[in-house]
Amino acid sequence: MPLDPSRTVAELEELRELTGDENGAQRVAWTDTWETAREWLRGKLAVTGAREEIDAAGNQWFTIGEGERPLLLGGHLDSVPNGGWLDGCLNVVAGAEVLRRIAEEGTPPVPVRLVSWADEEGARFGRSLFGSSAAAGSMRDQDELRKLTDRDGIALPDAVREHGVDLDRALEARSQLEGAGAYLELHIEQGPVLESMGLPLGVVLGTFGVERSRITWRGQAAHSGSTPMDQRRDALAGAAKLALDIRRIAAVAGSGAVCTSGNVVCRPGIVTSVVETAEQLLDQRHLDADTLARMLDAAKTVSEQFAAEENIEVNWERIWNIEPILFDDELIELADESIREVAGASHRLPSGPLHDAAEVARSGVPTVMLFVQSLRGLSHTKLEDTKPEHLELSVRALDVLASKTLARLAAR
Ligand SMILES: [Zn+2]
Repeated sequence: MPLDPSRTVAELEELRELTGDENGAQRVAWTDTWETAREWLRGKLAVTGAREEIDAAGNQWFTIGEGERPLLLGGHLDSVPNGGWLDGCLNVVAGAEVLRRIAEEGTPPVPVRLVSWADEEGARFGRSLFGSSAAAGSMRDQDELRKLTDRDGIALPDAVREHGVDLDRALEARSQLEGAGAYLELHIEQGPVLESMGLPLGVVLGTFGVERSRITWRGQAAHSGSTPMDQRRDALAGAAKLALDIRRIAAVAGSGAVCTSGNVVCRPGIVTSVVETAEQLLDQRHLDADTLARMLDAAKTVSEQFAAEENIEVNWERIWNIEPILFDDELIELADESIREVAGASHRLPSGPLHDAAEVARSGVPTVMLFVQSLRGLSHTKLEDTKPEHLELSVRALDVLASKTLARLAAR
């Protein structure tokens, strides 16, 4: 079969019919609907004669060819509840098209493997990147995973066992990434950048590092009527100043830096009292580790200044962080070339969300991602959409990139 990108769009529509409803995609991992999607994929790839394997973490692999340094293409069929029709499955379905094209041309010079990662979204148990983190060997929270339950009280180990996965053995999936030559992932952008630039496709430089902090401001509760304005120790005033100043901090950092004050909880939280404590949540993200560290320092420094101005106290606590994960320079160049060949122009951008590709890159496999424009930047909703002509271009770009990468791997 020669490459037929319009078939990818038709198959994505078919998968939407099969596994979605009027509220959107319903392919939550470790459910019957997810299994239906996996069975559907199996059928689509039968023509290639690919060898199928479900690994110890539940990832579904299809392999053609023999030998060392395989080229990997990956995505995830699982969705959030009421999800979009493209998030994750675009690359699985586009990857299937590329695999069929390569298989049609005979045995590839190195093996080509398509992987559908298990439970990227973590929708049921709140733990994202399950299958890819097991394959990358970075799953180090098995004790916590054992305690996770879904809304109905079903424990994660029991749910995954229903689908053939023994949590105690999940890390055996590590063998899948050993010696891999390259990993390519195509994904919808899930943000508004490419659309605002009028570009269909972009190369992803890596995934943002994240610093999450809980900031506790302490003042003094006092009567709203009897306390003069200049004698207040208002904890909310500090949180409010910081909530606005993070815009400046992000602007100074540049290169797509984002800072979000996602919540402020005030106590006593009544209209007749000055706020005594304000507990503020802050999320900061950047692709450069040093810049991210400077963003965090800047926020801490300015918070001390605001605390002094307001005669209140401030305390910082890190609640979660992850290093930026950078993709492979050589593959970024190849991806840029591939996009320019099929779409004329390309753009390099960081990814705000984490993806399976970040786990694969962390494990040391040279990795790159392609983004295709998302309409209105919407995702994780049934409103998620991308123009069919852009989807087709993305399949072409992935195919060209796969060919270029295959040639590089074969030459080594
Ligand atoms: Zn996704």
